[in-house]
Amino acid sequence: MKKLTPMMQQYMDIKAQHKDALLLFRLGDFYELFFEDAKVAARELEITLTGRDCGQEERAPMCGVPHHSVDSYIDRLITKGYKVAICDQVEDASQAVGIVKRDVVRIITPGTLIDTQLLDEKRNNYLLSLYGSSGGWGISYVDISTGELYTTEILGIDSLQKLQDEITKIQPKEVIYYISPSLSCSDGLMDFFKQFNLTVSLYNEWCYEEAYGVKILKEHFKVFSVEALGFKANHQGIISTGALIDYLMTTQKRFLSHINKIEIYQTSEGMVLDYSTRTNLELTETIRGKSKKGSLLWVLDKTSTAMGGRMLRRWIEAPLLKVEDINSRLEAVEVMKDDLLLRKEIKNHLRRVYDLERLAAKVSFGSANPRDLIALKTSLQEIPLIKALISDKTGLLKEIVNNIDILQDVSELIEASIIDEPPISFKEGGIIKYGYHPEVDQLQIATKEGKQWIAKLEQEEKDKTGIKSLKVGFNKVFGYYIEVTKSYLKLVPESYIRKQTLANCERFITPELKEMESKILGAEEKIVALEYQLFIEIRNIIGAEVERIQKTATALAKLDALYSLGEIAAENNYVKPKLTNQHSIRIEEGRHPVVEKMLNNNLFISNNTYMDGEEFQISIITGPNMAGKSTYMRQVALIVLMAQIGSFIPAASGEIGVVDRIFTRVGASDDLAQGQSTFMVEMSEMANILNSATENSLLILDEIGRGTSTFDGLSIAWSVIEHISKFLGGKTLFSTHYHELTELEGKIKGVKNYRISVQEEGEDIIFLRKVIEGSADKSYGIQVARLAGLPASVIGRAHDILLQLEEKDIAKVETIKEDLKATRDEVAVNIEAPPLQMDLNSLYNQSIIEDIKSINLLNTTP
Ligand code: ADP
Repeated sequence: MKKLTPMMQQYMDIKAQHKDALLLFRLGDFYELFFEDAKVAARELEITLTGRDCGQEERAPMCGVPHHSVDSYIDRLITKGYKVAICDQVEDASQAVGIVKRDVVRIITPGTLIDTQLLDEKRNNYLLSLYGSSGGWGISYVDISTGELYTTEILGIDSLQKLQDEITKIQPKEVIYYISPSLSCSDGLMDFFKQFNLTVSLYNEWCYEEAYGVKILKEHFKVFSVEALGFKANHQGIISTGALIDYLMTTQKRFLSHINKIEIYQTSEGMVLDYSTRTNLELTETIRGKSKKGSLLWVLDKTSTAMGGRMLRRWIEAPLLKVEDINSRLEAVEVMKDDLLLRKEIKNHLRRVYDLERLAAKVSFGSANPRDLIALKTSLQEIPLIKALISDKTGLLKEIVNNIDILQDVSELIEASIIDEPPISFKEGGIIKYGYHPEVDQLQIATKEGKQWIAKLEQEEKDKTGIKSLKVGFNKVFGYYIEVTKSYLKLVPESYIRKQTLANCERFITPELKEMESKILGAEEKIVALEYQLFIEIRNIIGAEVERIQKTATALAKLDALYSLGEIAAENNYVKPKLTNQHSIRIEEGRHPVVEKMLNNNLFISNNTYMDGEEFQISIITGPNMAGKSTYMRQVALIVLMAQIGSFIPAASGEIGVVDRIFTRVGASDDLAQGQSTFMVEMSEMANILNSATENSLLILDEIGRGTSTFDGLSIAWSVIEHISKFLGGKTLFSTHYHELTELEGKIKGVKNYRISVQEEGEDIIFLRKVIEGSADKSYGIQVARLAGLPASVIGRAHDILLQLEEKDIAKVETIKEDLKATRDEVAVNIEAPPLQMDLNSLYNQSIIEDIKSINLLNTTP
């Protein structure tokens, strides 16, 4: 093997340290990729794969992208889940001895985006660090584009489901982890991650050590102990946060001063919503199409700022549990709702506020350009006005006022120093305002005077020589010149020095012109350097105030979210719910917030809901397909959830006993199943619900058991209802086509029947959408099929078959029905379900006891 060229050797050394990233290696005006990286990039970016001599027999596969458009290529690679390491020249090429020094200046990963088109402005971009050991889970996550950092822990042996629920809430873009080999769940966890299309990587084990965590946290946050950050005995949390900070330092290669506090929370502080509940209730996106339109967020989001949009999304994803917290939001929403003028004013100012959190992050990250500072200034100028609007308010709004810093010093600094419409680049001058710095002023005057002198020269020379077409021009190669067209050449004075001949003109210079040129160019060069230096200084001064900007941004985000809830409450005629700690939910004339909007013109039929105490605990809802069962059940869940985020609700009135969790088991979710049958998914979701729900939970169960044969399904549905009634006690809405289940009313405690009314009109049915007490007696399947447009011949034939079935087998069917009914009555009436732990003293009617009794002990071996 021949030796590699020195540059290739340098490449190899750097690549060896960044094996899991695609290395973009700066060569001249290009970023190049080599070997395997080149093959991957050529394929993913659809660019040509070439080769480069690397000193060995075979040329190294290579591809490259121009440096000025590298960002869009990086975005494409990140979208596909790759990590990208940017390797730049780190010394001035003209000063270099031998080969120019290069190094990786930043590693960009899906979870560490800060300044790109890829960031969704109304959504956080989280990087999550996970640590798992026998002590439980540590979860830490950060959005480096805003500086938010959160940590929580999930302890206990049955915590895997809780962990998954929490990660589902966070929806990270990237996960780094270390899980102790003593835990056997890592495979299952990896399968779980696969659902979300995340970049997941195992990170250094040694970073996931408590001692290391303590050390790095003390260094980063400049504190003497981790207790100062709010950690108590949070061993798992310290470990996961420590590794997270380490990963940030390794990838970003700079101190991230905007990540300056940790919010440590407990998962029990907010309502936990598992993956299927979030999806089924379409909280932030629809099930089909994954679009925001059609989701609850779509209805509730009237925010004007990006940070307000992110705040509202977080509220929706983590509803509150404490009545006082909910009430303080509701009161603020009420103030907004009742004051149209205030809302108008707030919106008017907020819409001029840019994304302060991300601007602050860019400032401290060192990637903010002059236009970003102007955006910051114009945003800050709105703040005193916004603050004044709510300064007389109380409660949560008062708290917001107290947290708003008008940051006058920052906006005044930018106002005084940066011109109003600066270029994006801060490397070419033209940024600093006249009057900010005497030297810049002087230099600006010098160039201005020089340019005026040149402008005057053109007229003077024209007059002197009589050459009408004489022009003074400038280009980068020759500098300033005097241009004379061919027909006037004979008039050119001797003092002109010829420089260049073109097709129909010639260009000249004079010593005076060149002297002035060097003055102008010298001054321009100095200005550019000085302005750059001043800009960096200004940015650093602002960087030191990042915490104040962030605090203000959070306050404005809350205000914006409250504004939004007030606006939609007024617009959609919502009412303030009364929150209680009782076990009851009473909703008068409730509406589905999203379906109502989709239907537009008041076509939505409202319905009451009454779930109270032991008597009205489980509602069994029957009615034909399309009657509105799912809509009704989701409506109840959404109204409760809205109330608990502090929103007004679509109803005439509502009294909501706070629920700890909402569970839904709605429809089939085949796309998730990945190898599991619909029925299997249905049952495992049901298992999760029965294992996790409490008496304070709300359960929405849509046609449980329909995925298998009638008797199987019916039995499962029945026993689920029985279990909920006896052991869980959670409030439950249960829709079904098994009309047999309606016979449980009066037999099982707390069960009430409801049906969604329809009216028969000859062969057709009309949906009335009203939920009334009682049970439906017919399924109307064939009528609904006709409405759906099944061919008339098929409908007709189905009718015939139904009639025949009913006539011919009527006797048989009747006997089965009677048998079934008798058994049911007997089971429901006579058999108390056994306690979960078997008790040998009381002999239940259990087959195992019969089996034990029938053993002949004398004839059995040990
Ligand atoms: P089911 O679950 O009984 O099959 P859905 O809840 O899916 O029925 O409702 C079918 C359609 O009926 C919905 O898409 C909606 O457009 C309409 N709908 C449901 N409830 C109402 C209502 N209360 N008012 C008006 N339209 C409704």
